[in-house]
Amino acid sequence: MREQVRALRGTKDLLLKEARLWTTLEAKARAVFNAFGYEEIRTPVIEESSLFVRSLGAGTDIVEKQMFTFIDRGERSITLRPEATASVVRAYLENNLVNEIGFTKLFYMGPMFRAERPQAGRMRQFHQIGVEAIGSYSPHLDAEVIALMAALLDSLGVTGYNIKINSLGCPKDKKALSDGLRAALSNNVDNLCDDCKVRFEKNILRVLDCKNDSCRNFVRKIFKGTEECLCAECLSHFDTAKKALDGLKVNYTIDPYLVRGLDYYTKTTFEVTHRKLGAQDALGAGGRYDNLVEDLGGQAKGACGFALGMERTVMALEELPDISDGICVYFATMGPDEYRLAFNMAMELRTQGISCDLDYEGKSLKAQMRAADKLGAKYAAIIGEDELKNHTLTLRNMATKEQKALPERGFISEIERIFSK
Ligand code: AMP
Repeated sequence: MREQVRALRGTKDLLLKEARLWTTLEAKARAVFNAFGYEEIRTPVIEESSLFVRSLGAGTDIVEKQMFTFIDRGERSITLRPEATASVVRAYLENNLVNEIGFTKLFYMGPMFRAERPQAGRMRQFHQIGVEAIGSYSPHLDAEVIALMAALLDSLGVTGYNIKINSLGCPKDKKALSDGLRAALSNNVDNLCDDCKVRFEKNILRVLDCKNDSCRNFVRKIFKGTEECLCAECLSHFDTAKKALDGLKVNYTIDPYLVRGLDYYTKTTFEVTHRKLGAQDALGAGGRYDNLVEDLGGQAKGACGFALGMERTVMALEELPDISDGICVYFATMGPDEYRLAFNMAMELRTQGISCDLDYEGKSLKAQMRAADKLGAKYAAIIGEDELKNHTLTLRNMATKEQKALPERGFISEIERIFSK
């Protein structure tokens, strides 16, 4: 046999039960987004590389180390999207949503690509479900977006998650924060881990959420958290957002060291973690990004959003939801005449939207009944010699094992009656 080609490292096929589980979760997510007034957006998975360099920031881990970037035949630099916020804002501007609908609430679902070292919960192609609400500076929007994330997790069946929130302030506050941190750390860089030594030079805020224990302890001794650097307006914004969250009865904790890896975040930032996830414990994250629309060439607009990782969401599920699996009817037949009859009846039912299937491999009746079981069929419609002679079908309820003979003529309408309930 010839050698088989395998999927790339860090990518995965989704099929059968797992694909059905994802479809079920996506349908639940759509219902929640619908309730909160979000509309779907589907952007391309490839974009000009400059979109991500400009929005995420040149010194960020994603841009520096994780983008799948290539030069296309027209000598353009193209990148497989590592996240969706930048693309959504680009599309918002390019399609003039700002003038068409003003304040805009969008959700997306789809694959993202990052060249990371694969491990449990870390893939090179992974999937995010997320939202972006563009065109408001209201702190109530921050609270609503966080509450939406919680409602989404609840609806997907994730329990025991923790939401942490913080504020990074406006760009001025962020600068004060970076300067303060640089001053506090400049004589102590040797106490930091190797990664933080690089962060100190390139993206100093990331030192705050280093996972290394000795960095954490050290930073917590010399720096009391981001709130100290917030201006009056940002403090009041954060306060209103927290009060609104309290009003919505969303559980959260304040983590004064929470920062996000991307440059575009301002003011409220948040992360949701889950103990079941191990080292990669972030289920999702988001925040406000009040400068991105302007940075990408639009008028200044406040905005807020989040993204949940699908793979990690599935890992965090304690119990799998009911997956509406299985076909309605499997036809099991004996000989060619019986098969022809079943073949036509199956087609008739399918056009009525009733799922059914039959054998294509010449299996024995017994093997066909096993196939019906494997496919999760609710009923088997059996046509053997006797049935053909008597113009009947035997309908077997696969769960209760009850069987009854039905006349061939009334069969389709009887099946329609059963599944219209
Ligand atoms: P981020 O865009 O980095 O804030 O990530 C948001 C969420 O996407 C994370 O909390 C994860 O659930 C998920 N995620 C990010 N990177 C990966 C990855 N390489 N593999 C799997 N999930 C990821």
